[in-house]
Amino acid sequence: MKTTDPVTNIKGVGDKTSLLLKKLGITTVNDLIKYYPRGYEKYETPIPISDLKDGIYAFHGQMTKRPVTKRVRNLTITSVYVTDWTGTIRLSFFNMPYLANSMKMETEYVFHGIIHESGKTSVYCEHPKVFQPEEYMDRVRHLNPVYSLTKGIHNTTISKAVRKILSDQIEFCDILPEQTRNQYHLISLKDALYQIHMPEDESTLLAARRRLAFEEFFLFLIAIYRLKEHKNPIINKYQMFETAESNRFIEMLPYKLTDAQKKVWSEIKAELTGTTTMNRMIQGDVGSGKTIVAILAMLLAATNGYQSAMMAPTEVLAAQHFATINEMIHKYQLPLHPVLLTGALSAKEKNLAKKAIASNAVNVVFGTHALIQENVSYHNLALVITDEQHRFGVRQRESFAGKGKDTHVLVMSATPIPRSLAMILYGDMNLSVMNELPSNRLPIKNCVVNTDYRKKAYEFMKEEIIKGRQVYVICPMVEEGDMEHLENVMDYRDKLKAYFPETIRIEALHGKMRPAEKNKIMDYFSRGEIDILVSTTVIEVGINVPNATVMMVENAERFGLAQLHQLRGRVGRGAHQSYCIFVSGSTSKNNMERLSVLNKSNDGFQIAEEDLKLRGPGDLFGIRQSGMMDFSIADIYQDSKILEEASEEVKRILEEDPEFQLPKHHNLKMYVLEEDFQQVDFRTI
Ligand code: ADP
Ligand code: MG
Repeated sequence: MKTTDPVTNIKGVGDKTSLLLKKLGITTVNDLIKYYPRGYEKYETPIPISDLKDGIYAFHGQMTKRPVTKRVRNLTITSVYVTDWTGTIRLSFFNMPYLANSMKMETEYVFHGIIHESGKTSVYCEHPKVFQPEEYMDRVRHLNPVYSLTKGIHNTTISKAVRKILSDQIEFCDILPEQTRNQYHLISLKDALYQIHMPEDESTLLAARRRLAFEEFFLFLIAIYRLKEHKNPIINKYQMFETAESNRFIEMLPYKLTDAQKKVWSEIKAELTGTTTMNRMIQGDVGSGKTIVAILAMLLAATNGYQSAMMAPTEVLAAQHFATINEMIHKYQLPLHPVLLTGALSAKEKNLAKKAIASNAVNVVFGTHALIQENVSYHNLALVITDEQHRFGVRQRESFAGKGKDTHVLVMSATPIPRSLAMILYGDMNLSVMNELPSNRLPIKNCVVNTDYRKKAYEFMKEEIIKGRQVYVICPMVEEGDMEHLENVMDYRDKLKAYFPETIRIEALHGKMRPAEKNKIMDYFSRGEIDILVSTTVIEVGINVPNATVMMVENAERFGLAQLHQLRGRVGRGAHQSYCIFVSGSTSKNNMERLSVLNKSNDGFQIAEEDLKLRGPGDLFGIRQSGMMDFSIADIYQDSKILEEASEEVKRILEEDPEFQLPKHHNLKMYVLEEDFQQVDFRTI
């Protein structure tokens, strides 16, 4: 087996499994081996039945009576009583009579599941998993990998396939030079892959993680350092002149710009009208009003006869920007001619949009990644703006800038990155910090609650909806999968529909929907035609519906604090009092403490710092800031020290051997030369 082989070459992986794996983005052996677990499970040590109470537990037991199966409407309920030396507990299985029937009488099993208390003295357990004792005890001793799954594929399918790969004598090409590995105490690639999928214990897992995170940063930094060829200021080829239009527009806005917006706008204006090309990042918390500053820059370019383009990471967000600009053009008579280009357009529409972009018919372009496709050419392009830049790779940003010749570059981000890290990652960019929210905002009221609070929350939502407001509910999963205990969008929508009167309009939104469908739902929601939007985190970036005042997040324990802060940023965008309800499925002390940080602060920077402090560098099980920094294993907060080390090392190597000519850098050279590297999607920071 080779790493480039298709997954079907792995013994036990057939066509059916390979199709499912493809859904997870896995087609080759290499993809699978790089599909790291998203967490690890340690199975609880079994306890005596008499000690069981509410919670997740394991216990030994034997069946002393035959199972009893009843039919209740369309449900088959099988009850089983199991006993150990301390007591007896009832287990119920729904629609699985065969499971209980396959269990042998008076034979020891281990059961693992959620225990419910019924009354003061009695407990029962629904749908426990049943194990042979040896099998279970093996799981207790090890850390068991937990992979992200899709419907139809089981965790064991993935872990078995991974084990097959690892037991094969496969060649893994280790890119890190030996000197680097020795200097920074990094284990070999092969060991790291082994330990990340099948860790012996926490310390070997940590070592594996450290090695893989280092490599990720290392390659990422090599890519950016090599891309940044020209660090010297470039002469401004599109020097603009101030026009009356900007001020007229600012005067007409229904609000006054904040001091922070004014400051950033004047920094941008100075560069666009100055002698060197702009290369600037705006960092501003969610809701600080970055969009209007970007639009001001686009307006200035347009009134100077230039084209500008803004790229957003999602269809939904690009469409929203386009709608905003159209509304403004109409309301304020702006001399702008906009066009939208996204993957959701029909082939015919795309062609029309591309034609327009290549001509002088449009002066402001909005879109998604579609804007950087090869066959899109621009006319007099002077300014490119990337919104939510942390969602794009370095290469994507570079190719966007490459659509013009030495264009002005503006990137916007709501990710609060500590300055020291920003220096490593964006050393050549000027930073504008927008550290102020518009003054009409009332601080968001937050609460962290457990699932018992749901009824109250729904009643509260009802009151807000009657007042004319709208609600978001976030679930971590799209549909029912292996993670039964996590809320999913589809079932939740149905649950809410059953709970609320029909007059309340409830819809679902998630990333697996077709783009056009997503846009339609988002469009209805922003026009106020949907009252409750049940969604995954696809709505997390950029969406602006100021009338929405309630954000309820289910399984809040599953998200990183910074991500929860982003989600919260979807409300509190208008003058109405807004509320955020974080519903936690786990009431552990650590978890509640972590979530309570959100209660105490509405400031993104502070939250990022607290998050880092709470997790600490050794916290493997900390929740990754998914969606914020899409390294597959590294995390710029948690691994900031590793990032610094990788940066030192990359600088040293590039100084010593910039073209990787030395034999010791052979593997690195091969990797960089490989076409693969060109395509590596550094969807990061
Ligand atoms: P973000 O910085 O998160 O991208 P947006 O640019 O989407 O934020 O702005 C959020 C909302 O705030 C929008 O509805 C926008 O019209 C409004 N807004 C922007 N600037 C101001 C301001 N100075 N005063 C009041 N509202 C503002
Ligand atoms: Mg925004």
